[in-house]
Amino acid sequence: MERVYNFSAGPSCLPESVLKKAAEEMLCYRDSGQSVMEMSHRSKVYEEIIKGCESLLREVMQIPDNYKVLFLQGGASSQFAMIPLNLMNGSGKADFVLTGQWAKKAYQEAARYGACNVVASSADKTFTYIPALDPAAFTKDADYFHICLNNTIYGTKFNKLPETGNVPLVADLSSCILSEPIDVSKFGMVYAGAQKNMGPAGLTVVIIREDLIGHARDITPTMFNYQTHADNGSMYNTPPTYSIYICKLVLEWIQNEIGGLEKMAEINRAKAAMLYDFLDSSKLFRGTVVKEDRSIMNIPFVTGDAELDKKFVKEAEAAGFINLKGHRTVGGMRASIYNAMPTEGVKALVAFMQKFEQDNA
Ligand SMILES: *Cc1c(COP(=O)(O)O)cnc(C)c1O
Repeated sequence: MERVYNFSAGPSCLPESVLKKAAEEMLCYRDSGQSVMEMSHRSKVYEEIIKGCESLLREVMQIPDNYKVLFLQGGASSQFAMIPLNLMNGSGKADFVLTGQWAKKAYQEAARYGACNVVASSADKTFTYIPALDPAAFTKDADYFHICLNNTIYGTKFNKLPETGNVPLVADLSSCILSEPIDVSKFGMVYAGAQKNMGPAGLTVVIIREDLIGHARDITPTMFNYQTHADNGSMYNTPPTYSIYICKLVLEWIQNEIGGLEKMAEINRAKAAMLYDFLDSSKLFRGTVVKEDRSIMNIPFVTGDAELDKKFVKEAEAAGFINLKGHRTVGGMRASIYNAMPTEGVKALVAFMQKFEQDNA
């Protein structure tokens, strides 16, 4: 069977060349005589993989030297608790912007540990925009300020970061990491589950400024303390070895085949523009998000008729475009076009939508 175009929000498609390389090395990684899955994480050969992955990530994202890179497990969802346990250690307060379900989950979990203030929310319009932020509503002595930079379910993205001064800005980058360059130094910490833009599920990446490590609350479980992992090079216990290996291959793909994050961003913007331009000119389909806040990774759209939406998703699937059904809270469709979605995939989707529009006019 031919490979389909997979528009899943996550886990999502991986670059074909990465999968081929992994297949080549599946039974026997280089001259190790074993699969990466079978290796001791303490072996010399694996040490090169994890160290190589970290140094590539540092290079590709231009991560400053005073930040630690941690390879963890538990998904972005575990960070919702790890962040307050490790960072909410001064005033016991934190600020949140509610721009969708993930942002809300981060807020709700943190609220179990301290005083959480909602600076702004876009819940009133089903999170179809990024709310304006009034600095007067910021907590001056907050221990951190949390945002979800790209809202996977609703398809919005912060195009301007909040000015939080000395309060560390913490961002969930799960669905936008590696999609374009970011200035890591603007953040106290960023984190991402790997399964959207970095590799397979099972790996969670945390990039954290060194001075924010080492102040966890006493009750913090050892495995939930950033210091544990920082002190042990993400090897306190067994890391998700195979996911880290694939992440390294993805980073090599970005660096060697794509040509770095500037190039990656150019490609991503062009892919998104192709779909948005069609949505803006279509008489049948329309995007659900206000123009200024549109994501280039997740693009929700509707026909306005739930039955027609259903028909579209079904016919699209039969034509080899899978996972286009929108999140249940938005309805309609959503095309997640992460780094690994080739330009031809988006082009083919737009052509399919044009045809569907003609046939259902
Ligand atoms: C997918 C996603 C999550 C949840 O990630 P898990 O790794 O499944 O815990 C959190 N935040 C955002 C923005 C996401 O896209």
